[in-house]
Amino acid sequence: MVGAGVFGAATARELARRGWDVRLVEQYAPGTVRSASGGDTRLLRVAHGDANWYAEMAWRARGKWIELQEATGIRIWEPVGVAWFARAADGFEERSRASLDRLGVPYEWLAPEDALGLYPSLRIDDLASVLFEPEAGVLQARRATQLLVEEGERHGVRLESARCVPADEPRADVVVWACGPWLASLFPEVELKVTRRDVFFFGADASWRGAPGFCDYDAAYYGHGEIAGLGVKIAPDLPGEEIDPDTVERIPLRSWEHAAREYAARRFPALADAPVIGTRVCQYDLSVDTHFIVDRHPGNPSWWLIGGGSGHGFKHGPAFAQYVADCVEGTREREPFHALGARTGDAGLRTGSYG
Ligand SMILES: Cc1cc2nc3c(=O)[nH]c(=O)nc-3n(C[C@H](O)[C@H](O)[C@H](O)COP(=O)(O)OP(=O)(O)OC[C@H]3O[C@@H](n4cnc5c(N)ncnc54)[C@H](O)[C@@H]3O)c2cc1C
Repeated sequence: MVGAGVFGAATARELARRGWDVRLVEQYAPGTVRSASGGDTRLLRVAHGDANWYAEMAWRARGKWIELQEATGIRIWEPVGVAWFARAADGFEERSRASLDRLGVPYEWLAPEDALGLYPSLRIDDLASVLFEPEAGVLQARRATQLLVEEGERHGVRLESARCVPADEPRADVVVWACGPWLASLFPEVELKVTRRDVFFFGADASWRGAPGFCDYDAAYYGHGEIAGLGVKIAPDLPGEEIDPDTVERIPLRSWEHAAREYAARRFPALADAPVIGTRVCQYDLSVDTHFIVDRHPGNPSWWLIGGGSGHGFKHGPAFAQYVADCVEGTREREPFHALGARTGDAGLRTGSYG
């Protein structure tokens, strides 16, 4: 397994649990803040518009994250719920309801006034309704990634520090390349755009503790209330410039900071003067259509390429690992929409509607 982000760490652990002898090779450290999985927090929501496959996987993954927390006694799951701010009556949020119904996932379809109590301060004059998922929540991502590696090691995974490249031709029955944004530079057949994302945490008073996560899909902002002392997260999900994840200076841009401040003041008026108390600069590895990549390498069928998390991969970690392990063991086929090769379609699976 090359790469100890959430996809690699979870799949290494899954294969080790199934009896495989697994070597996990990481170029920096599991949970490095240079990786998307090294972020402080990641939302787990089930709503995915009409993309049922992802809704089902997110719901299954939720149970597995909670099992991991219970088995280790280490807190990684914040059960705060997630609210979707619907600008239109027939948008992404409304389309999500059918798959939530099918899966039996609890949700509330609220009139905007009825959502006022979810946050200490909330502006609703531009909302048609609010889709609230009370069983959704927030994962402490870096900690969870490291926990997956540690749990993998308990099942025999051997963690090694090295940068592995295809020319090394690693000797193993199967090699899974789970290299996040690095996948595209290692394999020309992988089409990914690696774009920066700046994330801001605002200092708020204690009333924001336990406030839900949120997605404002049409405006392309998301975040959560106060969690683990980090502050209130406001993250613009706007188009970002392409970056190199090894060399980028992780200092936030003023333009993104302004965008986050403006959004905070507009959506949560009590935060208008809240100070920024933390920042992160991260990157998305965006596939053309925001579907993941899971496929055999065209020239070397014992190699699997997995990635293309596209800004929404984290939550799926342990359930995605089962899917990949099944593909590796040949007990199921990879989904056609995860294949390498030309892709078309919109970028609709992440928390923002912008491509
Ligand atoms: C700002 C931001 C917010 C996000 N919000 C959410 C969210 O709310 N909910 C959600 O579900 N998802 C979210 N995501 C997406 C999610 O974090 C990613 O999809 C997921 O973490 C990707 O995991 P990964 O394992 O594919 O890649 P990564 O986390 O990037 O891990 C890849 C690992 O491989 C290692 N590696 C790479 N190349 C090599 C090599 N050649 N040799 C050895 N090691 C190598 C790297 O060092 C790294 O540790 C967000 C992403 C960002 C950036």
